[in-house]
Amino acid sequence: MTSEKPLKPATVAVHAGRPPHEPDQPLNTPITMASTYVAGGGKEYGRYTNDSWTAFEEALGALEGGRALAFSSGMAAVTALLDLVGQESVVVAARHSYLGTLGVLADLEARGRIKSRLVDVTDTDEVVKAIDEDTALVWFESPTNPAMEVADIPAIVAAARAAGAQVVVDNTFATPVLQNPLALGADIVVHSATKYIAGHSDVLMGAIVVAEPSLYDVLKGRRDLTGAIPGPFEAWLALRGLRTLPLRVERASANAAELARRLAEHPRIEEVRYPGMGGMVSVVVAGGAGPADVLVRATSLWVHATSLGGVESTFERRRRWKAEAPTIPEGLVRLSVGIEDVDDLWADLKGALDGL
Ligand SMILES: *Cc1c(COP(=O)(O)O)cnc(C)c1O
Repeated sequence: MTSEKPLKPATVAVHAGRPPHEPDQPLNTPITMASTYVAGGGKEYGRYTNDSWTAFEEALGALEGGRALAFSSGMAAVTALLDLVGQESVVVAARHSYLGTLGVLADLEARGRIKSRLVDVTDTDEVVKAIDEDTALVWFESPTNPAMEVADIPAIVAAARAAGAQVVVDNTFATPVLQNPLALGADIVVHSATKYIAGHSDVLMGAIVVAEPSLYDVLKGRRDLTGAIPGPFEAWLALRGLRTLPLRVERASANAAELARRLAEHPRIEEVRYPGMGGMVSVVVAGGAGPADVLVRATSLWVHATSLGGVESTFERRRRWKAEAPTIPEGLVRLSVGIEDVDDLWADLKGALDGL
């Protein structure tokens, strides 16, 4: 890493978080199964540190431009952050957010811990007006799940900064390959590494990335205490996935852009929501819930499943979840476009749509 120019994401994803290039070193950090360490060094205990986490954290931190902390799931990362919000402080959050995040906000509010204000994140004026001196955090995804809305991150960051609030961007959908919120001024990035980062629908893990060293120390201290830590094998799998993240995102994005174009021309599709980046596309099926439910069971390649970001294409009708926002149309199907051949994906989808 001696070159003057910063390395590009595709290079960072492959090279960061590896042992030094020295004789007999393994090329990859091995899985370290250890609950405790011989005293006298800095490691001490397995809840505090693990080489398999550290390798993953170095790579993700390098990709996001900050320091990363691995958590046992995306929700463990989300709750670690929301737990820090002071008594009765306000969290301004996008009304279309991950259902688990909205669930934790509602739970904390019901127990009198915090106050939440839900906003339309595409309406920057509304977001700015909702931020006041009681606001501790401004929290959103961009693109949002599953509405695929895009937030004006720098404008929201400026308003939050003026009010003394911190900005959290859940960067799960965009991935660090397509968007680096810290570079846009956000204070905290949260990831469900379960999705694109691990990328193979076989591991649950989460992460937080921050630029500010004191904030890193606070969050590391919280993780040490609460024990929301990943297993070494999970961290190893997530890092193995991250090595190919730029390639997978590139292919999934190209497939998604092409499918969005073709879907927009199909008579059974009322609306296509694609923000022009990434592998996530939402479509509104004409006729609502009924035909949408038929569609998700009529394909052979596309798998009817929740979650996203795997190499395989999956989709689901979001309103099948009782907690999904009523502002999401009944017929909205969220597609997580994989890395298969786009013509095969289209033939499968078109066949199912033609049969509606
Ligand atoms: C899945 C998801 C989460 C939660 O992550 P888990 O790993 O399932 O706990 C948080 N935010 C977004 C945007 C997600 O898609």
